[in-house]
Amino acid sequence: MAEVCGPKPFRITADVLTAHMGLPGFRAAVSNVPAVDIAMLRRQGCPGSDDMVAQCVALHKWMSRNCNLCGAYDSETRCKKCNLVFYCTEEHRQKNKKAHRLRCCRRDGPADTAPGCLTDPPPEKK
Ligand SMILES: [Zn+2]
Ligand SMILES: [Zn+2]
Repeated sequence: MAEVCGPKPFRITADVLTAHMGLPGFRAAVSNVPAVDIAMLRRQGCPGSDDMVAQCVALHKWMSRNCNLCGAYDSETRCKKCNLVFYCTEEHRQKNKKAHRLRCCRRDGPADTAPGCLTDPPPEKK
């Protein structure tokens, strides 16, 4: 199986990506990845087109589902506007609202500094 994206902790294969493309909200998430995140990954040597890198960003976020405030894994609540960030609780969504609004649904939003974001790779799952 062809590997679409190398970076750990996930091995992203073409069929994992195809499966996600069929999920409601995933395409929206891809289109809302801020350009600064894409540029950063390109600097790190991520291959492929900007759109492929955006797909990869969204896929990593959907697979780890880190809370955008505390970094907890497998968080259930997703930002309904950008479909790109997750929260462990409604309380954390509310607390992060002001900070997240700067980049939510914006291609020109600032870089991601949330826990578990791509600048700060999550630890290996035990
Ligand atoms: Zn949280
Ligand atoms: Zn959002």
